Amino acid sequence: MSREPKPTIVGGGIAGLTTALCLAPLPVRLLVRTPLGAEGSSLWAQGGIAAAVGPDDAPTRHAEDTIAVGGGLCDPAVVHRITAEAPWAVEQLAAWGVPFDRDAGGRLALGLEGGHGRRRIVHARGDATGQTIMETLVSRVLAEPAIEWIEGAEAIGLVEDEIGLCGVDCRIGEKRVRFPARAIVLATGGVGGLFEQTTNPVTARGQGLVLALAAGAELVDLEFIQYHPTALAIGRQPLPLISEAVRGEGACLVDERGERFAAGLPGAELASRDRVAHAIWQHREAGHQVFLDARRRPGQFFAERFPKIHAICRSYGLDPAVDLLPVTPAVHYHMGGIAVDGDGRSSLPGLWAVGEVASTGLHGANRLASNSLLEAVVCARAAAGSIRASGPFLPPRGKAPPGTGCEPHWGGLPAILSRCLGVVRDRESLERGLDQVGVAAGGSAGGAEAHLAWLWIRAALWREESRGAHYRSDRPETQASWARHLRQDRSQAFLPAAPTPV
Ligand SMILES: Cc1cc2nc3c(=O)[nH]c(=O)nc-3n(C[C@H](O)[C@H](O)[C@H](O)COP(=O)(O)OP(=O)(O)OC[C@H]3O[C@@H](n4cnc5c(N)ncnc54)[C@H](O)[C@@H]3O)c2cc1C
Repeated sequence: MSREPKPTIVGGGIAGLTTALCLAPLPVRLLVRTPLGAEGSSLWAQGGIAAAVGPDDAPTRHAEDTIAVGGGLCDPAVVHRITAEAPWAVEQLAAWGVPFDRDAGGRLALGLEGGHGRRRIVHARGDATGQTIMETLVSRVLAEPAIEWIEGAEAIGLVEDEIGLCGVDCRIGEKRVRFPARAIVLATGGVGGLFEQTTNPVTARGQGLVLALAAGAELVDLEFIQYHPTALAIGRQPLPLISEAVRGEGACLVDERGERFAAGLPGAELASRDRVAHAIWQHREAGHQVFLDARRRPGQFFAERFPKIHAICRSYGLDPAVDLLPVTPAVHYHMGGIAVDGDGRSSLPGLWAVGEVASTGLHGANRLASNSLLEAVVCARAAAGSIRASGPFLPPRGKAPPGTGCEPHWGGLPAILSRCLGVVRDRESLERGLDQVGVAAGGSAGGAEAHLAWLWIRAALWREESRGAHYRSDRPETQASWARHLRQDRSQAFLPAAPTPV
């Protein structure tokens, strides 16, 4: 374990590993809580990576689809840049060795997912895209001498001296270790583990947000949490995901009477995720059971096209070609996060964020399916370029105080957040949740996680409208005057944010 100052990445999912590979041959340190490739949502990505590479497609179409589902809060410049770089992202991953699925003619096989007007989802080993990409990236990282990877290192605080950020404090077993760094990249993934029903690993507890908040960085659009409509309702955490690509291959939503209750949505079962999740939520509230019916399509083809999902269903005694699959919406993705520019730079000098922990402006109020792996790869390269240009990386000055950041997890939080930040919210439940976390944030029980939760709920209260993934039953309309972002930091003041350019 070296103690020299060098760019330091926290997190070993697709965002962290790609940033490290793009920074090499610059010496770089990678801190990961588990063995490399053992934890993170990246491993579980099923659908694939969106890129306009088909003969009938173009990046501008991909950009239009992204903006169409983003609820008026996408940053068009960011969207155009990332969708334009999507073919590069696929080429780069393929050049690193990812064996993307191809047709008989050697062309990339393209899947279809909700909100996409074209087949443009590139996948690998059927629905094992995330695992396949991660295996490739891990082997590249292990072979790259410029990357020092440290496993079992959990970042618990960012450290500052008189110049600025100067290191990361980690817990490694029983020990606390400080790693000097003037350029720090948070790539810690999502937040689903803070909710009672999620498709994320339960360890995804927004630690990067907590670290950034404690250090003074700005967070943005926290209220936008995407619920995936079709998690397998098996009553234990995390809920296995039934990818949207299954609906892309013809599966439909039915209730216990066999009625296709979502058929009237624009795009039917392939409407945007917020709409499908809302339709399922409403139908369940009305007392119905909800199932995914894949018996006719993809039918017998299911096991071949979706081998992982098929194996999961079989492990619960369900055969998708024969049985209806019980489904429910579950927390899947956080559109909000650490506010960053197109190069992954946060508001705090020396701090970058890449992947799900960051909010670049690509997704707006609602993420288009399979745009997150894409965002992670494209933004990793941009962040690496900006970090390279930011040196020299000076050693810390004097004896910096202990870093501020994560504290022990608060077990009470998932119940509170799930009650007030569900598919459908209202003022009453949000105010109740705010009171509950406010008490905890002031005491020792909730600590830093409660502080984050307080800002989160306050953002959902502040947005007195419905937009994208944020649906308020007491404010069901979208209001033009709310077409703006909400930035917050540890000062607990609302920060000025310009209306978004749509
Ligand atoms: C079931 C499922 C299916 C999905 N399918 C798709 C899909 O088909 N296409 C798509 O585009 N997106 C998909 N997504 C979303 C996508 O997978 C994620 O948004 C993306 O993988 C996030 O990558 P990441 O690198 O930011 O985070 P992750 O892959 O979650 O990695 C986070 C890393 O940070 C580490 N970490 C966290 N905190 C600390 C800490 N304090 N100290 C040290 N290390 C830490 C973790 O151990 C992990 O290594 C899916 C998500 C899920 C859950």
